[in-house]
Amino acid sequence: MDDFSSILEPLKEKLKEKTGAAKTSFDLWFGDLNITSFTEDCVVFSTPTKLRKKILSTRYLQVLKDSLEETVGFPINIDIISLDDEDDFPKYSYSEIPREENESKKEENIKREKDIQSILKDTTEKRTILDEYTFDNFVEGESNKFAKAACMAVAKYPCEDQNPLFIHGHSGLGKTHLLYAIMHHIKKNRPELKIVYKTCESFMNELIEAIGNRQTAPFKDKYRSADVLLIDDIQFIAGKESTQEEFFHTFSTLYEAGKQIILASDRPPREINPLTDRLRTRFEGGLIADVQPPSFELRTAIIRKKSETLGITLSSELVDYMAERLNNNIRQIEGVIKKLYAIVSLTGADVSKESIEQIISIVDPGNIPTNAMIERILSAVSLKYGVSVEDIKSKKKTENIVNARHLSIYITRKLTDLSLPAIGKIFSRDHSTIISSINKVDINIRTVKNYEEDLNSLIKEIKGL
Ligand code: ADP
Ligand code: MG
Repeated sequence: MDDFSSILEPLKEKLKEKTGAAKTSFDLWFGDLNITSFTEDCVVFSTPTKLRKKILSTRYLQVLKDSLEETVGFPINIDIISLDDEDDFPKYSYSEIPREENESKKEENIKREKDIQSILKDTTEKRTILDEYTFDNFVEGESNKFAKAACMAVAKYPCEDQNPLFIHGHSGLGKTHLLYAIMHHIKKNRPELKIVYKTCESFMNELIEAIGNRQTAPFKDKYRSADVLLIDDIQFIAGKESTQEEFFHTFSTLYEAGKQIILASDRPPREINPLTDRLRTRFEGGLIADVQPPSFELRTAIIRKKSETLGITLSSELVDYMAERLNNNIRQIEGVIKKLYAIVSLTGADVSKESIEQIISIVDPGNIPTNAMIERILSAVSLKYGVSVEDIKSKKKTENIVNARHLSIYITRKLTDLSLPAIGKIFSRDHSTIISSINKVDINIRTVKNYEEDLNSLIKEIKGL
């Protein structure tokens, strides 16, 4: 099992500070708190008993999530399980399955991957990611120029003309970066302003918790006393009626008091569905700015800037090569450069097209567009099991359908870089069901004869090898 002490220790320090709990009560609730799994989108905590789980999940959920996000430096979901609860079993036996790799290099890659992780941890500990999310570090191109200018205007003159500011664009194109840049700027130049930043998800969780504890007044106060309110990933409000209701009132109170509201979303307001008309009208009532996928020029500029920051020298031929190969999103470019940095500092190797290619194959296996990959997976599994794609995605519980579903989920996790919740969406299930499907396949691999061979040949077929 992984050792998460480098996260747990600072996390517990933060918790101590934030809860202000006396030592005995702190030890009682948090002393035995552990992390059992850490994936890119969810951290599962474990605690020995159901009672502790209950207290942590009610009284301390938000502070735990906030402290964790501050410690790791990015928004993340959390889940809590108790070790004496069998229903929680699938969650704590979950370990990340390795994503697809070049078979012959598997072992070498696994070792390298571990070393890379330790180096990456080191760099993120020294400088938290969020410190780097400034306007200065935001590379400008045609595709994001307008959004950047809009954000700078709001940062310089908050609570004036542009209200609300609504930024939208696909994932990985810099929206969160821009929100943080606004916050940095305001904090520095207008320290008297109260800034509240939340992801839509944690806004929702906080609201649900406040309602559950019958303590909505402090919740309302917190949001309605903000001078600048930023809500990230607001698209998640779709279909959440009570959150929409509460957010509408928060929005109106702030708006009427002339306070600044900034929203980021992966789609424009008209595509957030279902959304009440009155909120949609509010979202559309200010300035809307989008970020588009980066052009070749912007990609090269970003690759240059990010590699220079890390002290890697790349010839312009290599920069162009990377920009050609990585045309998806900026998060992916960043991921490749960070891994490149780790490899260069680890092995002292020169950067070559081959090393870049190898990293891309880890970060972006197959380089087949995700949608096409999902289609391939579903049709291959459907053919093999004689089950229709519709049935695989349905709620039906017939044994062969269930098996085909587990397998499709497992392979999707292995061959795409989709997060657990994103896979959940495809199969209309929540992320813990996805985790348990992956577990079932994992168990079959270990216990059922020839299962792994069959699985591997199916995967080969899907990849078109
Ligand atoms: P989003 O919120 O749109 O999904 P993020 O803001 O999280 O995307 O950006 C993903 C990563 O790419 C971040 O690390 C961010 O710093 C980086 N990034 C995005 N756009 C730019 C840019 N124009 N210049 C520099 N870095 C960028
Ligand atoms: Mg974001």
